Amino acid sequence: MSIADLVNAHVRDLEPYEPGKPIEEIERELGLQGSVKLGLNENALGPSPRAVAALHAAVDGVHRYPDGHGLALRRKLAQRLAVPEAGLVLGNGSDEILELLAKTFLSPGDEVVYAWPSFAMYPIVVKGMGATPVAVPLDADHVHDLEGLAAAITERTKIVFVCNPNNPTGTSVGAEAFDRFAASLPENVVLVVDEAYVEYVRRDDFPDALAWVERRPATIVLRTLSKIYGLAGLRVGYGVTTPEFASYLERSRHPFSLNAMAQAAAVAAIDDEEHVTRSRELNARGMAYLETELGALDIEVTPSDSNFLLARTGAGVDAALVREGVFVRGMAGFGLPEHVRVTVGLPEENERLVKALRRLREGA
Ligand SMILES: *Cc1c(COP(=O)(O)O)cnc(C)c1O
Repeated sequence: MSIADLVNAHVRDLEPYEPGKPIEEIERELGLQGSVKLGLNENALGPSPRAVAALHAAVDGVHRYPDGHGLALRRKLAQRLAVPEAGLVLGNGSDEILELLAKTFLSPGDEVVYAWPSFAMYPIVVKGMGATPVAVPLDADHVHDLEGLAAAITERTKIVFVCNPNNPTGTSVGAEAFDRFAASLPENVVLVVDEAYVEYVRRDDFPDALAWVERRPATIVLRTLSKIYGLAGLRVGYGVTTPEFASYLERSRHPFSLNAMAQAAAVAAIDDEEHVTRSRELNARGMAYLETELGALDIEVTPSDSNFLLARTGAGVDAALVREGVFVRGMAGFGLPEHVRVTVGLPEENERLVKALRRLREGA
């Protein structure tokens, strides 16, 4: 008898997610210090000071279970977004909401359509339920091919994911194209719009995905506190949908998946509009700097609506940058072996990256 014989076939066939070694461990191995972390699209400014104060205040209460309903955070979000409280689903990161969607809607044989390269969690949650991922390539400009996505939908399609702006390319789709796509979808396909980077968007014609929740009940919009709100380590994400849709996701959710510290910090972070504005402005300046400097090094960059940038540096540059103490995300696993994804950092971090790239160029 082997344990493998007992395991669900679709779980046995999953490729284990490799989170990579901790940066501190790699630094020790290579004898580096003070590396720059530009690989995970985190907020370079750090968390809001108000969120940090809320965490300190919450510490003494951690012997109590958290509010399983997340009432304070729910109220705050409902008010901020002008949506009904019952239409919100709070999760341990938006990753948990993706899991809940898969658990709630997918069975073996169902198909799930999404663009590729896009967020790595989509194929993982789909395969985890034994459903079939259907990946539609981005167009030549690394933008969602919405017509291609629409054409890939069959009678077996249960869910379509649209990541807007798209990770790892930073590209976005505009309202006209998105609205046409959403209107064309069969009403029995669940539309998941992943807006993890929406607070960074600069284009004026960005789609109003929340409005589609009212127009088309099988729709959910995902947001997160991990990016501009700077709380990635606490794991807070949420979905906005109809109260009925939300009630089904709630059935398979662990009641205490959102811990007490995370809830307290999230409420404070959402209230700190000044921190969000500062983060957005720092990002816009850093993005402009990186576009100019990478351009000067003849490195092709993809115009981005987020806090990261897809750059065509050539193959192997991610590993070479690690030796320079700069961590970016190599894109070989996404079928883009010549590209890296770079998170916009603090001005001095961006300069470290540019100098390292220049050194590599001169050494080559
Ligand atoms: C970072 C990210 C998320 C958020 O994940 P959390 O689980 O909330 O940290 C979701 N979708 C995309 C596309 C992302 O890049």
